Amino acid sequence: MWCEQHSEEGWATEGSAPMPNRLLLHVAENKQLEAIATRNRFTRPIVDRYVAGNGLEDAWAATAELNKAGIDVSLDLLGESVHHLAQSKAATQEYQGAIENIQNRAPGSTVSVKLSQLGIMIDPQECANNLKALLDAAATHGATVEVDMEHSSVGRETLAIYKSILPDHPNTRVAIQANMRQTPEDLASFTDIKPRIRLVKGAFDESSAAALRNADEVTEQYKFLSRWALQHLPDPAFGTHDDSCVDVVKKAAAELGVDKRSFEFQMLYGVRRKLQDQLVREGYRVRVYLPYGTQWYPYLMRRMAEKPANLLLFLRSLIGS
Ligand SMILES: Cc1cc2nc3c(=O)[nH]c(=O)nc-3n(C[C@H](O)[C@H](O)[C@H](O)COP(=O)(O)OP(=O)(O)OC[C@H]3O[C@@H](n4cnc5c(N)ncnc54)[C@H](O)[C@@H]3O)c2cc1C
Repeated sequence: MWCEQHSEEGWATEGSAPMPNRLLLHVAENKQLEAIATRNRFTRPIVDRYVAGNGLEDAWAATAELNKAGIDVSLDLLGESVHHLAQSKAATQEYQGAIENIQNRAPGSTVSVKLSQLGIMIDPQECANNLKALLDAAATHGATVEVDMEHSSVGRETLAIYKSILPDHPNTRVAIQANMRQTPEDLASFTDIKPRIRLVKGAFDESSAAALRNADEVTEQYKFLSRWALQHLPDPAFGTHDDSCVDVVKKAAAELGVDKRSFEFQMLYGVRRKLQDQLVREGYRVRVYLPYGTQWYPYLMRRMAEKPANLLLFLRSLIGS
């Protein structure tokens, strides 16, 4: 097979996923808690760590700082799982505004979109149309679009839409989650055009039928797929803050003779800033995923789930209100 599962042995059992993380991922979907947290001004310091600001101008300001340090960005307008087509249209227009200004404000930037924000849960065809509108704007203005991968409830449709646009927009990047059992098969299914991927571990709470749930096994699978992506795919991106994964990518690239500029590391705004600088100094390309907007709650809760120590800070900020 073109790409095989790293190992079938010792796959995670239901009980092996860390409970606080899974609880937090449920909390991320709770609308009442979202309303409380969003109104609470004491949450602002922790929000500011992970979110570049409320509006596009804030995002450009944060981008300028990162660009000075030799780091590119991918702009992410916060907001997901919209329930009205008007919201998905508004998000599409906001993204178009960003794309039109990329060349003037920060050439080299990309935009990252969630298809649940472009309407995939309401009308997949309308969502595909919105994505095409962004891809056309990106082609006109010399920008690139990256498609985030969300929960498996929209994952199949996301991949199907990505495949449908790929022939006309082969530079479009798609996030691929190492934790998903389906991932090797998905990668093998790209027979004509090899995709540009952003390999990530996977941030959503998934069943053990759908995903590996043991952190060590996800990391091993990430490392296996990293090497594989360097061998088989054009310009792969590695979205990780994990030192051991970063090291594996560096070593595999050196062994395979892949130039440091032929792939990139991607990290989230507010996470491992020193490591980003170090990688730039070593000659690697680095891109920061830069979220902005007011609808930060689900995004922030996923970040809390990745780093439960931060949760204490967040809870204290809520209680401090
Ligand atoms: C650029 C980018 C784009 C992403 N896009 C997607 C996507 O489209 N779909 C998706 O499912 N997931 C996405 N993710 C999230 C990803 O799936 C992981 O949940 C996340 O990156 C944590 O995994 P890790 O590889 O950093 O390793 P981990 O083992 O989780 O973390 C390694 C170390 O990094 C630091 N760290 C990690 N996360 C945080 C944090 N939140 N705050 C502070 N420190 C932290 C800690 O020091 C930690 O010990 C993306 C991640 C990145 C970097």
